[in-house]
Amino acid sequence: MVTGGLLSGNVAAAKSTPKRDYYGELGVRTCINAAGAYTTLTGCLMPQEVVDAYAAVSDEFVSLNELHDAVGKKIAGLVGCEAAMVSAGASSAMTLATAGVLTGTDEDKAKRIPVDLSGMKNEVIVQKEHIVGYSHAIINCGVKLVIVESRQELLNAINENTAMLYFTDEHNFDGPVKDEEFVRIGKEHDIPTLNDAAASIPPKGSLSKYTDMGFDLVAISGGKAIRGAQSTGLLLGRADLIKAARFNAPPSSDRIGRGMKVNKEELVSMWIALERFMEMDMDAEYKRWQTQIAWLEETISSVKAVKAESYIPQRPNNVPTLKLSWDRAQIPASGFDIQTALRAGTPSVEIARTHEGGFNITTWMLKPEQLEIVANRVKEELQKARV
Ligand SMILES: *Cc1c(COP(=O)(O)O)cnc(C)c1O
Repeated sequence: MVTGGLLSGNVAAAKSTPKRDYYGELGVRTCINAAGAYTTLTGCLMPQEVVDAYAAVSDEFVSLNELHDAVGKKIAGLVGCEAAMVSAGASSAMTLATAGVLTGTDEDKAKRIPVDLSGMKNEVIVQKEHIVGYSHAIINCGVKLVIVESRQELLNAINENTAMLYFTDEHNFDGPVKDEEFVRIGKEHDIPTLNDAAASIPPKGSLSKYTDMGFDLVAISGGKAIRGAQSTGLLLGRADLIKAARFNAPPSSDRIGRGMKVNKEELVSMWIALERFMEMDMDAEYKRWQTQIAWLEETISSVKAVKAESYIPQRPNNVPTLKLSWDRAQIPASGFDIQTALRAGTPSVEIARTHEGGFNITTWMLKPEQLEIVANRVKEELQKARV
């Protein structure tokens, strides 16, 4: 049995039961998310306060630009950076950031990207290790990515066409040039720097760390750990560049960002989600997650031939995690096989496969009553696969 203390927490605020079973009518099964903040699983669950804000503001008209300004100011105040805007996800923040760097507030330029970049700088430099799946957000603006493999190559690549230097926080320790030096190089050459820190929260400190360090622009997901709407993100940084990014965003119509709309509901609920996140006692959250993971570790490692290890990854998903692997001679199933079986079961349970062929479990997206279900289903499928 799991004790009340282990289960208590703020993850699952009581939500009113809808009169209609929307998912059921659609024939879409819900799942228990023991994987983490993944877009394919719809990211996160918005806390009740955030849902309330989303619904409450939906009933009045306002000026979208005025609301953008006001929410941006609140968010910049909460984070402690010069300026901020809400975007349609971190990926859209990166596109709007790049567009803003290219065009400033020049309407003719803003209308021409990504097709005609004449009169604009058209190269963005990035270290090879920092190319993750999101560089498309940058090249959407028509720029060329210049990929470098050493500090010297980075310095050599800088020229009069260099628009921006682009960095991915989770690969800080993988590339030859680390964040502080990267910022210094940008400043020395008067070239704006962008840090994709989309999934670098928690820790909470990541919200202000990179603008404080001197990055001109920082992109963060609103719908991961902050638990705003999944379709939101934050662009933080220099006031002139945020203004230029906004210039490329709705409500202006003939712009690269026109399809990246955020409306009053996303804007206000993002602010409330961030306010709530800033007030959260993260030490208590970590303690709760750690207790849950320790319990899972003990429970699941009771299955013979299964190895369960708890750890906290640096970036992304900097939360207590249980890594599972097993002796394939005794349990001849791949991580994919177990994942498929867990997904197909009732209830459906999602876990995150690891490169080593096993999988990871996290508890930060679980509702309290789901912890035991996850343990039981995982044990069951591993035992079933035994020869
Ligand atoms: C999730 C993620 C993104 C995209 O964020 P969205 O808010 O889903 O647009 C970009 N970069 C990294 C490193 C991410 O993990």
